[in-house]
Amino acid sequence: MTTKNQHSRMLLSKNESGAITFCESCDVLELEIGAISLRINSLSLELLSQLMIEATKSMNTYKQEQAGFTQIKPQNFGLH
Ligand SMILES: [Zn+2]
Repeated sequence: MTTKNQHSRMLLSKNESGAITFCESCDVLELEIGAISLRINSLSLELLSQLMIEATKSMNTYKQEQAGFTQIKPQNFGLH
């Protein structure tokens, strides 16, 4: 009984945003984010991870700067 043609995927990570599974036989990572499914080479995970970390850092910096900017602005926008 061979398992070569079977795609036994294992769950690497999962949270509210989605899940990442790994198919050993294909050496492929599958990112499931909502309705989107993305297949990447396992070697790309590290790069993708760095991309995410960099984006998170930039986003936090942006939020901090935006918060600082909002504090300086006068609070006279009562109408919505
Ligand atoms: Zn597979």
